[in-house]
Amino acid sequence: MTESRTAIVTGAARGIGAAVAQRLAADGHRIAVVDLDEAACAGTVDAITAAGGTALAVGADVSDEAQVSAAVTRIADELGAPTILVNNAGILRDNLLFKMTVEDWDLVMGVHLRGSFLMTKYAQKHMTEAGYGRVVNLSSTSALGNRGQANYSAAKAGLQGFTKTLAIELGKFGITANAIAPGFIQTDMTAATAARMKVDFDDFIKFSAEQIPVQRVGQPEDIAHTASFLVSEGAGFVSGQVIYVAGGPKD
Ligand code: NAP
Repeated sequence: MTESRTAIVTGAARGIGAAVAQRLAADGHRIAVVDLDEAACAGTVDAITAAGGTALAVGADVSDEAQVSAAVTRIADELGAPTILVNNAGILRDNLLFKMTVEDWDLVMGVHLRGSFLMTKYAQKHMTEAGYGRVVNLSSTSALGNRGQANYSAAKAGLQGFTKTLAIELGKFGITANAIAPGFIQTDMTAATAARMKVDFDDFIKFSAEQIPVQRVGQPEDIAHTASFLVSEGAGFVSGQVIYVAGGPKD
């Protein structure tokens, strides 16, 4: 039987984060549903509690050190020391390089890289004390390069290096760190990309599915399933890996 642990999932108000939160709750863990706006976490928290699980809504901007520190302290007090962390919060500010503003570069780096750094820095204290931990970072196939995403692809590639370094530094404390690099997943984020490109979302999904070997786009549950494996106790010898969940090979 799975030991019940406290798991933090960032950006869990919707999309992939919401699915990961619900899956880890179904696996028996207590979930801190972290997102920018605490009220926006209610849907995920209600879904978890309706299914018999335990969840806490926590409002925090992952790129703000004071908010991260306060959030992790509150989570430890109310749910118990967090030993699972899924760094999922993310934003897009796509543009071609020559049109990309410094602000859009900094914002994307702030949420993905600084955010994952801060969350991990504050959570790892509890993991090292417990002698056990699981960190999962959300990278992307865009880490391999993607037109219009100089900021996002740099951040997602950076997260892969961050993940491998965490694995090296924290392994001796019983902590693993891995990254999931999703391909096209059907969420508000990809809907926003379609809108920006001025294409109908259903057409975008159909066209994208035709390019993917398994002939469909991904769903948030595809990522949740992979996260469930990576945070499981049995995955303790899997560390520093990047798993592309993209319906076909990428690397
Ligand atoms: P989404 O639907 O846009 O959800 C992202 C969530 O993160 C939102 O609830 C958002 O809150 C929250 N968030 C943004 N900035 C935050 C901050 N500073 N602090 C706390 N929470 C914050 O995105 P998604 O598609 O589920 O993507 C989840 C993760 O997977 C992201 O890291 C993304 O880059 C990655 N990913 C997605 C895809 C895909 O195809 N969808 C592919 C590869 C990788 P607000 O609603 O308030 O903005």
